[in-house]
Amino acid sequence: MPRRVNCQLCKKSFGCKQIYVHYAVCIAEKYTQEYSGHYVVSFLSRGMCNNQYYIYAIINPKTTFATIDNYLRNKWLNCCGHLSNFECEKKQISKRATFKTYADKDIIYEYDMGSTTTIYMQKSILIKSDKEPLKTTYLHNVLQNDPFKFNCKICDKPASYHDGVYQFVCETHKDKADNYLLTQIVNSPRMGERCFDGDYLRDITFKQNYVALQDRFSSLNVDSDDSWETYENSDSSETGEITDIL
Ligand SMILES: [Zn+2]
Ligand SMILES: [Zn+2]
Ligand SMILES: [Zn+2]
Repeated sequence: MPRRVNCQLCKKSFGCKQIYVHYAVCIAEKYTQEYSGHYVVSFLSRGMCNNQYYIYAIINPKTTFATIDNYLRNKWLNCCGHLSNFECEKKQISKRATFKTYADKDIIYEYDMGSTTTIYMQKSILIKSDKEPLKTTYLHNVLQNDPFKFNCKICDKPASYHDGVYQFVCETHKDKADNYLLTQIVNSPRMGERCFDGDYLRDITFKQNYVALQDRFSSLNVDSDDSWETYENSDSSETGEITDIL
């Protein structure tokens, strides 16, 4: 029997492949009223041990690829500020282009031209209703894969570190790893690259948790002061705001 997984939003069960299509549809349905005219986009990337990492976001059609680039760097990839590239039908996409131009296409994003992390953005879904769009924010995180669990090679308990070559160890056994270059396990498809230690992402995760807590105590209004970070684009004057709405 092929493995089934439950949708984090509607709790219905799907096959391992169908779930990635379903998430986008499910998000579009759930946020029809608030985000009319926006797109649901998925970011998929295979990481260590062939795990499938994913993020789903709601994107304003006016968002530039520079903002999406910043978003992916902050969410998953940042290490030493490598070059990155968006591509559609084998042609490079300008970072000044707006998302709307390519919204109905498959897009490939590559970070670091040396040891490249590749992210697939599948055809996005337009959220349609007869309401005027209420939100002006550029990008909203909606869904992300739960952190994968890795077990210590000595005691089989949950591991906290990896050595970059598929060996995992817990806090107690971190001296027992063959490779002394241990780095902490982080929820990113870039985990395992030598230059990536996830320090930057851990900092971001802290900020997200902090905002999530604030959200619970204030009534939810993702359009106003809840934005946790503002991203400045390197090559345009647009400033995109990114908000968590989980
Ligand atoms: Zn669902
Ligand atoms: Zn790097
Ligand atoms: Zn252990």
